Amino acid sequence: MDVTTILNPLNAAQREAVTSTDKHLLVLAGAGSGKTRVLVHRIAWLIQIENHSPYSILAVTFTNKAAKEMRARLEDMLGSSVSGMWVGTFHGLAHRLLKMHWQDAGLPEHFQILDSDDQLRLVKRVYQALGIDDSKWPYRQAQGFINKQKDEGLRSKNLSPAEDPYQRIMLQIYVAYEEACARSGMVDFGELLLRAHELWLNKPELLAHYQQRFGQILVDEFQDTNAIQYAWVRLLAGQTVRLTAVGDDDQSIYGWRGAKVENILNFNRDYPETATVRLEQNYRSTKNILSAANAVISRNTDRLGKSLWTEELEGEPISLYSSFNEHDEARFIAECLNDWVKTGGLRSEAAILYRSNAQSRVLEEALLRSQIPYRIYGGQKFYERQEIRNALAYLRLVINRNDDAAFERAVNTPTRGIGDKTVQALRQLARDKSITMWAAADKAVMEKRFSSRASSAVQSFMILVHRLDEDATGLALPEQVDSTILGSGLIDFHRQEKGDRGQSRVENLQELVVACRSFEPEDKEQPSLPQFLDQAALDAGDRQADEDEDAVQLMTLHSSKGLEFPLVFLAGMEENLFPHRMSAEDPSRLEEERRLAYVGITRAMKKLYLTFAESRQQYGTESYNSVSRFVRDIPSEHIEEVRLGRQVARPTSYAKKTASRFSDQGTDTGLALGQRVSHKIFGEGVILNFEGNGANARIQVNFSHAGSKWLVQSYAKLAPI
Ligand code: ATP
Ligand code: MG
Repeated sequence: MDVTTILNPLNAAQREAVTSTDKHLLVLAGAGSGKTRVLVHRIAWLIQIENHSPYSILAVTFTNKAAKEMRARLEDMLGSSVSGMWVGTFHGLAHRLLKMHWQDAGLPEHFQILDSDDQLRLVKRVYQALGIDDSKWPYRQAQGFINKQKDEGLRSKNLSPAEDPYQRIMLQIYVAYEEACARSGMVDFGELLLRAHELWLNKPELLAHYQQRFGQILVDEFQDTNAIQYAWVRLLAGQTVRLTAVGDDDQSIYGWRGAKVENILNFNRDYPETATVRLEQNYRSTKNILSAANAVISRNTDRLGKSLWTEELEGEPISLYSSFNEHDEARFIAECLNDWVKTGGLRSEAAILYRSNAQSRVLEEALLRSQIPYRIYGGQKFYERQEIRNALAYLRLVINRNDDAAFERAVNTPTRGIGDKTVQALRQLARDKSITMWAAADKAVMEKRFSSRASSAVQSFMILVHRLDEDATGLALPEQVDSTILGSGLIDFHRQEKGDRGQSRVENLQELVVACRSFEPEDKEQPSLPQFLDQAALDAGDRQADEDEDAVQLMTLHSSKGLEFPLVFLAGMEENLFPHRMSAEDPSRLEEERRLAYVGITRAMKKLYLTFAESRQQYGTESYNSVSRFVRDIPSEHIEEVRLGRQVARPTSYAKKTASRFSDQGTDTGLALGQRVSHKIFGEGVILNFEGNGANARIQVNFSHAGSKWLVQSYAKLAPI
């Protein structure tokens, strides 16, 4: 590969960035202007033209998916494998470092990564131990507190004892939580970064070694680095290493998780020998989409301000669909997707983006019903399932008996006569003696602390785990996992469950073995199982469904960062949902919501749909939200309101409805206006109105107790009475 192949696909400003010989480089530019492209081409430039070794390059991206793509792009350009290169997320790289230097980091060799679920469970145990009332101090509050401190690089010992009762309690929890993690060698996500940072601080010779090794650090999405990530890079960069940072202040959307946009704004202060390059041409979106995005973001006051332009055509207007409720919204999206596929589009070209994770369920239902394959990106679908977590717990125990979270999960699943009381007693013992649950179980059995029945149940569980360990020794990964799952009794347990549920759980367990077959350990010299378990915990979301199936992507707006799709749906464009109701009061959080809207809109290349629901089951009640301010900020010339083709216009006034009351009849429903019907939830009522046909048919019923409601006929299951 030569100079021209690297530079040809770039514009002048991008070339300037790629070839910059300044010590440091900052690329600050809007969405879709080719920042990530510059980063990749710069790596190729450094290797091919400046002759740096691939091993001297450390590149950080925001998601595992982005890292994978970057690696593929590089292999493509360089024509050779880049498997030895350090390309990954901050968490992934920190993990790799800690695995290599576990002793220096003060960790056990097989330290276990806690995902946020495990973490919450641990927090609950800490509450129990300390006797803290969770109705006063919710668990999640403490979890958030701990994560926040870690993101700031603060351990409990760095915090000063406060007068304020909230601070005092949180600090107390943090201390106990740290002790519990240390006892059983558990590391949460924040801890990965914190430890990796401390590794630099505590082992200067190791830091010097890596500074020697990595001559070049490149970071994408720099606007969303938090304090500890920034500090980690800063230490590694030292005086000699060259740093390339690319980002966009308008896309800083992780402030709520501790990201500091100042890191990019003040870059020149910490790195004085920096060349700054700005990119202004957008290559991703049509004019309509780009103008909408520019209009929305221009309302923020706190920004550097950039102007983006495009040579693309106007393109189609943005479609706005106002639905009756969330089911109608989901069905509309499914129909559009079907049309897209019918006219030759790929499902994988389409993404449905939403503000809150909970929105996915209804969307998933509609997609399932329309038989449209989908994948939830970033959501831990497969690995979140109970049976999978249970199986992983056994595997974790097999490699590390001190894994308390795994012990708790496995000890009585499937049920083997170890009751809550026994588990509680083990917990107490573990706490009193500052030992792990496993050690406590051992002790309790030895000292005959339990009834003989409980004691023998605990003992057989321990024997079982030892046996699983022995049985698995020497086997290849898939056989290992298979043997442990079988031996654990989980398969038999679920076979006995009634109905489809048990069957699907068994299938999921089998699927876990399938997943092992395609697993490629990063380090072939080391045992695969621990690596597999770490990987499962790290990128649960990435390996959930069929990788090769053409599927629509569902994800939160937050996880859509850096990605692009020809067809994008932004669902739930409503006040109280987006902007999120928690952010409505606070101007700085509102600005972050607006940046999130900017990120969402700029994911679309060719066609963008905005949808909102007039009524929605939200937080357990029916709410009526108005259309989001972000939609209203888009000049109307870019927007076209749509209705489903087969749909009759919505009723205009109640007078009209009542006038037609006894004359009309719903199409092929067997129901008539004025007829009395009953509904499973709302009870009895009278039919007031019909509208639409077929799958879109809706029916208005005045219920005696629940009042008047519009229902989607195909779901309502109304029975005449
Ligand atoms: P984001 O802010 O969303 O992360 P970005 O600035 O990183 O966006 P890229 O993803 O690198 O932008 O590029 C956006 C799209 O434009 C990609 O499809 C990319 O291949 C294309 N692109 C970038 N530069 C050029 C160019 N000079 N010529 C043609 N296409 C380009
Ligand atoms: Mg990018």
